[in-house]
Amino acid sequence: MKSSVMNVRLKWTHWSPKKIDREEIYLKDLLLKLVELQEIDIQIDFYQEHLDSMPVELQEMAKAIVGLRHEIDDAIALLATVEGELKSKEQDIAVEQEKIKKSERRLLSIKNLKEHDALSREIKLGKKVAGEIEEHILELIGRNEDLKKSIDKKQSDLKKYEETIVEKKEKAEQLMTKAKEAVKDLFAQKDEIVSDIDHEILKRYQTVKKARGNALAQMINGSCTGCYMIVPPQLNIRVLKQQEFLTCPNCNRILYVKQENIPENNKTDQLIN
Ligand SMILES: [Zn+2]
Repeated sequence: MKSSVMNVRLKWTHWSPKKIDREEIYLKDLLLKLVELQEIDIQIDFYQEHLDSMPVELQEMAKAIVGLRHEIDDAIALLATVEGELKSKEQDIAVEQEKIKKSERRLLSIKNLKEHDALSREIKLGKKVAGEIEEHILELIGRNEDLKKSIDKKQSDLKKYEETIVEKKEKAEQLMTKAKEAVKDLFAQKDEIVSDIDHEILKRYQTVKKARGNALAQMINGSCTGCYMIVPPQLNIRVLKQQEFLTCPNCNRILYVKQENIPENNKTDQLIN
């Protein structure tokens, strides 16, 4: 049902009305279109965000994999060094033990007390040196085991990462294809709506959207849902009437109301549903 208010011309508040001399712009239709445009834009932004973040996420995973491979290479190189050192120390101790054995055998045949004491001291010293080498060997064995464990863990992590990235890549590609299709579809819908909206209003919409994220804000219980400020009473009444193009004095968002949020006594048939 069309009432006389449907024929109210668009009145401009808060910004210059010049250039807009199109005849008979119906505010309800315009606001509905803008709300629809905003809903489409929210969806486009949502998909776009995913489209932008997915390659970054995959890149980060790929970087982590490269980093892990380097860590494994470094650990393997270190393991080779430790194993080499271990081998050399094992040879050292064998030599040292052989020397001790020889000296101990010689000791049995020495009668001279002075010589006996000297050789005994040599054996004692040799055992001390062997003991130190043994300690070093034990330390190297410990390091060797730790390194092997750490390499195993890194290799199993790497395997998991490599499997995950393949899965993620597949999923991301599927999602990206879907998102691209959705965005294409949304842009087509947007083009249709935009073609019906006045250029100056669109510019205004884009400016507020750029600054605030959303260009339109619903008024609920007398508050702007964009910035949560209470809309001044006079403005509140005008917003409820939906006969003017009005913006929130605090955040500049274009204010609109939904049918269910209009108090009974303010209801007319030309409001947004
Ligand atoms: Zn506001």
